[in-house]
Amino acid sequence: MKVYLDNNATTIVDPSVKEVMDPFFVEKYGNPNSLHAYAGETHPHIKTAMEKIYAGIQASREDSVVITSCATESNNWVLKSIYFEYILTGRKNHIIISEVEHPSIIATAKFIESMGCKVTYLPINAEGLIEAQSVRDNITSKTALVSVMWANNETGAVFPVEEIGEICAEYNVLFHTDAVQAIGKLPVSVQQFNVDYLTFSAHKFHGPKGVGALYIKKGREIMPLFHGGSQMGGLRSGTLNVPGIVGMGKAIEQAVDALDFEMSEIREMRDDFEDELLKIKDTFVVTPRNRRTPNTILISFRGIEGESMLWDLNRSGIGASTGSACASEDLEANSVMEAIGADEDLAHTAIRFSLSRYTTQEELDYTLDVVKKAVERLREISSSYAYSPEGHNSGLTAGH
Ligand code: PLP
Repeated sequence: MKVYLDNNATTIVDPSVKEVMDPFFVEKYGNPNSLHAYAGETHPHIKTAMEKIYAGIQASREDSVVITSCATESNNWVLKSIYFEYILTGRKNHIIISEVEHPSIIATAKFIESMGCKVTYLPINAEGLIEAQSVRDNITSKTALVSVMWANNETGAVFPVEEIGEICAEYNVLFHTDAVQAIGKLPVSVQQFNVDYLTFSAHKFHGPKGVGALYIKKGREIMPLFHGGSQMGGLRSGTLNVPGIVGMGKAIEQAVDALDFEMSEIREMRDDFEDELLKIKDTFVVTPRNRRTPNTILISFRGIEGESMLWDLNRSGIGASTGSACASEDLEANSVMEAIGADEDLAHTAIRFSLSRYTTQEELDYTLDVVKKAVERLREISSSYAYSPEGHNSGLTAGH
């Protein structure tokens, strides 16, 4: 049996998304910026897709949604734009991010830090959560931007973006949120929350790879990313990715439609699966379930290297992860577990299971069976695991 439980890394493209994209490769392939009918026939499709994308995050018509190639690009763009517009010009000198942002935020923050920007890295608490108060405590009159993700890719922890947005508005500081892991899992509205910039990426919600977006609230400054053309209002020049835009439009519409299912059925399946996993001795989950996206479990099996567990799962046809997709090839401890303050052993034993609306009960039953056998096998040969009938103390709060 093949089971895909790595949906925080990427998702299957929904067949109906693929279907709406198909005509834009060999039939309607015109460059939308040309001046003939080949171009013209793409226009209504782009317009409809953009309307769906605006509706998907409840953006208003006056706001901008600029299509990019991925969330990494959108995240780089916001931080570098802040650097050019606010830091380099001397208007401000500081930004705040969390220490568990995606590498596309952390590495960009480190880059602009090396160019003279002060960066505060907000810690997470023992449950893997950010406390909004820590944003207030760190804002100065020179803070240009706060960038805190909506939901964490590894633990699924949902951060208090509503409160953080309010604090930023109170101090007149710009607020960016990386909502990559929130779209399709939680209601996302840029109207409801005070968000100035928001990042998302189609391949995380059953859309195609190679297309993402940056939402920019009306009136907020942004430096053009690519110069040289008039596309995307001159903010990001380059021939439009027509199939990608059409695919993202369809995918976000479906993601919003499937939200109730994700938040009820998928959550229930995840909870039952997690209950069963936690029955295995010496297993730990840090973030409480009601503070997580409905599809994610980051679980530590004491005494078992995450990579060994992945190997056993992979041999049985199951795809999971030890953390962020980008870090999975390194034998490194899970960075979020480290940030929480988990001991070495637990930080190296974290496995992430992330479900999607395509996940079935049969797949989870099969996975549970494989995990149980793998735990037994791997603990028998583990040099760091000594069985104790009382179990070990995680040193962390076991989350339910
Ligand atoms: N931000 C978060 C929270 C993510 O989980 C990811 C992907 O893992 C990204 C950004 C990067 O997304 P993309 O692959 O579209 O660049």
